[in-house]
Amino acid sequence: MFSYRHAFHAGNHADVLKHTVLIATLEHLLEKDAALTVVDTHAGAGLYRLDGDYADTSGEAAQGILRLLQPPAVAAGTKKAAADAPLAEAIARYLAVIADFNPKGGAKVYPGSPFIVQHLLRDHDRLKLFELHPTDSRTLDANIAQLEAGRQIAVLHEDGFGSATKFLPPPSRRALVLCDPSYELKTDYGRVLDFVGEALKRFATGTYAVWYPIIPRPEAHDLPRRLKTMATKAGKSWLHATLTVKSSKIVTAPTGETRRPGLPASGMFLINPPYTLKAQMAAALPQLVERLGQDRNAAFSLDAGG
Ligand code: SAM
Repeated sequence: MFSYRHAFHAGNHADVLKHTVLIATLEHLLEKDAALTVVDTHAGAGLYRLDGDYADTSGEAAQGILRLLQPPAVAAGTKKAAADAPLAEAIARYLAVIADFNPKGGAKVYPGSPFIVQHLLRDHDRLKLFELHPTDSRTLDANIAQLEAGRQIAVLHEDGFGSATKFLPPPSRRALVLCDPSYELKTDYGRVLDFVGEALKRFATGTYAVWYPIIPRPEAHDLPRRLKTMATKAGKSWLHATLTVKSSKIVTAPTGETRRPGLPASGMFLINPPYTLKAQMAAALPQLVERLGQDRNAAFSLDAGG
């Protein structure tokens, strides 16, 4: 356990999808004055340097946020008509948040979910962050301490699956819960289902957002299907958005050497999503495919119900 470090993946295509959905959802919930509690069950380190050793080693941001920041005509494979189209609102808002962390332009600093959320929250809102990795939770503590946010933010070095429901329902009865595990362990898929099931029992009107990787593994395939069944049985609305950037096939080099392609796709499954999210993602996802697609397998799906 605990070999996963989000610093290697920060700003990749999966973060682009996750954080675009997160911002669109959060901004909608913040339209009401009543206090909102955001619970981030798997917070990571909070802030990442894309010019640092970790990100340099993996180079994943080059095919994510850094590619999205390039002028569309330069981003390989972008068609002229698509390049000329104005950016969808959800993507524009995501890029505006990234720009706030990079006043000199570009994306040397990449905010993880804790910093994205804190950046948008108002003084009377609350943020509960769970992180178990010994190094990342220390880094998260240090990063959050710089904000001098006082009572607004609580960092807990606890198991997000096991402990986060203690904040549900929050006093204001308004909450957004982001569940974004690393899925290092096969058991994480089942734990997501148990966590969401328990959270819905305690607080049926919360908004729940689950990120998951789309990889050739039965548990990954089953997760959105089982979340949909859970939402439907509970009489709750749901939304499911996926972004594929490339083929999942193992690549064989002329030398016969085989190479895994890296994460080809990911999805976000929301229960009780904002009613505005489907239209926003319908506009954003085709543009993400155009701008981040790496081969002809690039695609999106968007489905909602309830
Ligand atoms: N949500 C972050 C973001 O969007 O910037 C990224 C989170 S990363 C995908 C998953 C994190 O969960 C890792 O930092 C890992 O150390 C942490 N983690 C793993 N198991 C955990 C658990 N049971 N409870 C809390 N955190 C855990």
